[in-house]
Amino acid sequence: MQDLLLVRYGEIFLKGLNRPYFIRALVRKIRYAVRGMGADVHVHDGRIFVRGFSDLDTVIDRVTRVFGVHSVSPAVEMPKEDFDALCDQAIDMTKDLKGTFKVNARRSDKRYPMNSMAINEEVGYRILNANPELKVDVHHPDYLMNIEIRDMAYLYVKVVPAVGGMPVGTNGNATLLLSGGIDSPVAGWMIAKRGVQINAVHFHSYPYTSDRAKEKVLDLARKLSFSCCGIKVHVVPFTEIQMQIHEKCPDEYTTLIMRRYMMRIAERIAEQTESEALITGESIGQVASQTMTALGTTDAVARMPVFRPLIGFDKSEIIAIARKIGTLEISEQPFEDCCTVFTPRHPATHPKLEKILEGESRLDEEELIQRALDGTEVIRV
Ligand code: ATP
Ligand code: MG
Repeated sequence: MQDLLLVRYGEIFLKGLNRPYFIRALVRKIRYAVRGMGADVHVHDGRIFVRGFSDLDTVIDRVTRVFGVHSVSPAVEMPKEDFDALCDQAIDMTKDLKGTFKVNARRSDKRYPMNSMAINEEVGYRILNANPELKVDVHHPDYLMNIEIRDMAYLYVKVVPAVGGMPVGTNGNATLLLSGGIDSPVAGWMIAKRGVQINAVHFHSYPYTSDRAKEKVLDLARKLSFSCCGIKVHVVPFTEIQMQIHEKCPDEYTTLIMRRYMMRIAERIAEQTESEALITGESIGQVASQTMTALGTTDAVARMPVFRPLIGFDKSEIIAIARKIGTLEISEQPFEDCCTVFTPRHPATHPKLEKILEGESRLDEEELIQRALDGTEVIRV
């Protein structure tokens, strides 16, 4: 008899030829999640199992946060031949339960001498005899005593829901514009959940923003790194560009011109890192630079698709996810973001592209971008 964790993945993505590729990727990601815990992750009979760990709660906590895992069950694996032993095990697993239950046997080994119905009846009967606090309810039971008869027997009661999504890396790479705020880490997490490997770009305006502000962004990246399986953060020096925009461009357009520069530079980095899209934490109307017209002017400089997974979210909804994924308390630390330092008093909410282009014509775009790229520091977290 052995305690193990049975891992379930979404079935929708598993049709056809991609199945082995998907499962291999998921196993690698689960191994990454439980590294250092002495656990063994392997595939057997089309199922993913984790065994050999000592701390079940930590293993469950880690594995349920792996993108691609839909639920897990702590289970007992035992030989199927001794039916009395199976019953005793089921009795033991239900001995502390109160309320209603149902036995749910599945027999993939059709040579097994009892069929599912017979197993349900006999095990159910013995559980009822052993635990007077339990009643049978076949329609809406509080608990399901699951018994799977495969090459071995697997017994479990508890099903712990997991994060879902797809294994990181099975859907390519994208580049996240990561600020120290609440929104962008959530945006990155949501796209990573769809199986996308995240690469981050942060614009740093030293000395207007402190080293502590940069450290905060790296802390956010470290927090995301568990789910994202490692992130490369590109820290781009942005002070010169911001100063020049501030000096030479019309005040009401400085934020948008700055955002267009961020897009251009992020896209260059995205190209170098084989990303296929950019990700930002914007949502409609949150600030002046996020009106639909304003977003249109930032989109206009990007050739790649720009993903804004938070586009229709309220701040309170974003905060709820940030709290769940553990980035909120880092984002709430009070260090200046480079955007807030040079914020104009009256930013344009219905910007005219001609005005932006006119302002930008006063800047030496290629040289500014090149110098920023040359000064970029890459930190792997
Ligand atoms: P967040 O809380 O994520 O920073 P925000 O509400 O502060 O978002 P803005 O400051 O307008 O919004 O920025 C919009 C988006 O632009 C951010 O979500 C992020 O993707 C990107 N961005 C802003 N500042 C930076 C920065 N310094 N470095 C990298 N990306 C940034
Ligand atoms: Mg911000």
